Amino acid sequence: MPDNTINSILEDDTGYLWLSTNNGISRFDPEKKSFKNSSLYNGIQSFEFSQGAGLKTSKGEILFGGVNGFNAFNPANLAENKNVPPVVIINFKLFNKSVTPAEKNSSLKQDITQTKEITLSYKQSIITFEFAALGFTASEKNQYAFKLEGFDKIWDTGYHRMATYTNLDAGEYTFKVKASNNDGVWNEKATSIKIIITPPFWLTWWFKIMALLIVVGGTVVIITRRINNIEAQKIILQQQVQEQTIKLVQSTREERKARYEAEEANKDLAQKNTELEQFAYIASHDLQEPLRTTSSFVELIQKQYKGQLDERADKYFNYIQEASDRMKSLIKNLLDYSRIGNKKELEQVDCNLILENVLADLHVAIQDADAHISHESLPVIMGYHNEIKQLFQNLLINAIKFRKKDTCPEVIISVKKLKNNWEFIFKDNGIGIEEEHREKIFIIFQRLHNRTEYEGSGIGLSYCKKIVELHGGKIWVESGPGKGSAFHFTIRVNEQDKSKIYEKVMDDILI
Ligand code: ADP
Repeated sequence: MPDNTINSILEDDTGYLWLSTNNGISRFDPEKKSFKNSSLYNGIQSFEFSQGAGLKTSKGEILFGGVNGFNAFNPANLAENKNVPPVVIINFKLFNKSVTPAEKNSSLKQDITQTKEITLSYKQSIITFEFAALGFTASEKNQYAFKLEGFDKIWDTGYHRMATYTNLDAGEYTFKVKASNNDGVWNEKATSIKIIITPPFWLTWWFKIMALLIVVGGTVVIITRRINNIEAQKIILQQQVQEQTIKLVQSTREERKARYEAEEANKDLAQKNTELEQFAYIASHDLQEPLRTTSSFVELIQKQYKGQLDERADKYFNYIQEASDRMKSLIKNLLDYSRIGNKKELEQVDCNLILENVLADLHVAIQDADAHISHESLPVIMGYHNEIKQLFQNLLINAIKFRKKDTCPEVIISVKKLKNNWEFIFKDNGIGIEEEHREKIFIIFQRLHNRTEYEGSGIGLSYCKKIVELHGGKIWVESGPGKGSAFHFTIRVNEQDKSKIYEKVMDDILI
């Protein structure tokens, strides 16, 4: 239908319906149900016809009235245009500008009407074809159908004579165009032109292969380098490990040798020490007898010849007697010292009872010095009875002995429970000890005073140290000259590994 407004309808003798519209005259075939619009163009009064203005004469003529008069025709006399129009592509445009072969670097080698193939770059992204059907009867009613194979799926039909495409991908296409004449007679043989769009270099096969080769090659190079590096590092590491192993083996050998030598030396020392202790014991033990004899004879002489000897002889015998007494006490101390640890069975020791015994033994000395000794309740510990007694006794004797002149000695004994130890403190108000001597006094035969000042042998504190260590503890002193001294020592609460402690103490003594 040329238009949707029908002004009048008439049937001709052959059965076709003729319709006048606001856009010309149309013929409807009721059998085929099709319209034919284009035969009646030459000489019509106007495209616009008037409503109801239609008449069929007895001669079979049809009349339609319109805005400029009327038209009369006999349908039987109307000739149909049977001419099949050839179609040609008459213009090719890039970016809406016509291309001619004469231009420099033109895409066309010859005129567009002769061209069968055009090669374009991917950058030439807007292309237009103009075409025409060579049918000159009412040519504005010629119809066209075109399609770009490779891009369009269906034919695009209409009266327009132009086709534009934009941004085509690289590849090959064929542009085809067909046409019909004004009476809708189609030329089925399409005119075609091949379009080749070259891709950008990064989409070309050679570039893709090259890029792939570069990527693969680069990866291979990187991997090979990495492997080489790792191999080199591995070799360096292996060398280092080898060197370290050799060093380790060497040092282990040296260490073993040193340990073996030390063990041998230790054994040697232990042997020597045992011998020495035995010697000290035997010597001091055997010395007791002749000493006792000397002492008792001197005593006898002093008693029997009293008044018969001159004054000098009396004085000499007194010296002999004093020297023998001192020697007796020295020998007794040495014997005690060498006997420590002989008894290896630990027992429960009530420190309160021990202290009572010691205070009873030292009763005379305490009274003579007018000493005050106070203590808190002491614990029951696992230890060696005699040794603990000796320890308490030595510390108390020292506290009384090293008192300040004209001051009554005061001793405070306290104890505190630590995590694994008891810590005992024997604090006095005596003469005190210089800082530089605080370690030294625990070494055997180390004394800070001569005998005329204070009696002693220098064994007492070394004896105490040995006893404390036998009980898995430590001994130290906090003191200052004139400020008194506080002797601290610890005793293990749990004596689980007695033999180990004993061995350690013995080792320390050996060293
Ligand atoms: P000593 O037989 O001389 O008492 P010790 O081994 O018992 O030997 O003591 C070593 C030295 O430590 C003593 O000579 C003394 O100088 C010092 N000393 C020990 N106890 C005390 C104390 N409570 N106050 C001051 N000095 C002390």
